[in-house]
Amino acid sequence: MNTDMTRRIVDAVDAAFDAQIATTRDFIAIPSTRGAEGPCQDMMGDLLRERGYEVDDWQIDLDELEELRGFGPVETDFSRARSVVGTYRPAATAGKSLILQGHCDVVPTGPLDMWETPPFSPVIRDGKMYGRGACDMKSGTIGALYAVDAIKAAGLNPTARIHFQSVIEEESTGVGALSTLQRGYRADACFIPEPTNGKMVRSQVGVIWFRLKVRGHPVHVFEAGSGANAITAAYHLIAALQQLEAKWNERARADRHFKTLTNPINFNPGIIKGGDWASSVPAWCDVDCRIAILPGWSVAEAQAEIRACVAAAARDHRFLSNNPPELEWSGFLSEGYELKDSADAEGAFAKAYGAVYGGTVQDLVFTALTDTRFYGLNYNIPSLCFGASGGAMHGFNEYVELESLRQFTKATALFVAEWCGVEKA
Ligand SMILES: [Zn+2]
Repeated sequence: MNTDMTRRIVDAVDAAFDAQIATTRDFIAIPSTRGAEGPCQDMMGDLLRERGYEVDDWQIDLDELEELRGFGPVETDFSRARSVVGTYRPAATAGKSLILQGHCDVVPTGPLDMWETPPFSPVIRDGKMYGRGACDMKSGTIGALYAVDAIKAAGLNPTARIHFQSVIEEESTGVGALSTLQRGYRADACFIPEPTNGKMVRSQVGVIWFRLKVRGHPVHVFEAGSGANAITAAYHLIAALQQLEAKWNERARADRHFKTLTNPINFNPGIIKGGDWASSVPAWCDVDCRIAILPGWSVAEAQAEIRACVAAAARDHRFLSNNPPELEWSGFLSEGYELKDSADAEGAFAKAYGAVYGGTVQDLVFTALTDTRFYGLNYNIPSLCFGASGGAMHGFNEYVELESLRQFTKATALFVAEWCGVEKA
């Protein structure tokens, strides 16, 4: 690409930035929590059709995914779950093909009274847009859409196939991304615009979700000693799992990327439910947990260690030793992923990055996961993850910084042009 083309593309991002912000706001305003992503997928289908993409919008069939690497069990009603892919086909192919992927599912808001402004009524204050999903990752998905628009607005057409993919379930199982691969979508590289604060994800953790189902022996509290409290028993198991977390963090010191971080393995008891009455010793307690593993660690072996840890802790407990808890796999069963064998894609990205930010992009060692793993691990498709800056993801008052979004959109547009190639429209 010559400097004139670069300038025209970058200018086109600026020219459309107000429209990009407006579309981002509309997209965030749809409360697309798990199971409610439909309207977001409708909007994405419309945006793609308006732009001339050939749109594939289908119902996900879990039966077709179960045997695939990285599948995680889905527990919610999935009868209306959809994936949406818009395909751009060039008149004649010269460059390399690309998957651009974003997830439109967002995590629950938590207590609304902890938000300064309602999470699904996005507002802009001091150069930041606030709302659930503003950062993770609706602004990135819309940014990638406008990045491709900017190439066309600059009077150019990409010369390779592009699949623009909007998926669900990124925050719980990953089966949305998996469904696009099962459907047959492939490319020479994948780019996922998660918010990475202007860094390139070099290595990311895998994640395992599980549920402890603890049973107690209910009695009236006046004779509590003759019963068994399922809630306090659950705390006994949580303490044992915290020790497993510490052990895995020791092991993480052997990883060439993660050794640079303190405690890259995070264990989180994220949901706890139990008991029926304040004056009854609780008969049950369910705890939903998340723990990370590192790239190269086997999910099956990690599951066996979790199982052994819970079993050992139960043996060590007066009531649980004879009434062991159940353990269920309740979502993610994901491996970690390290970006490698990706010199071509990273080379193209380096040019785009340099033109916008100057210098060389920094690596990010990421203690959360992204959908990149499916492309990289299952099909050897180099899978880049790069995006804007923001904060409070999964917290309250989540936001994206708009100037970082503008820069990211420019870099993404130049990367697409560089990787796919362009010709005069
Ligand atoms: Zn995300």
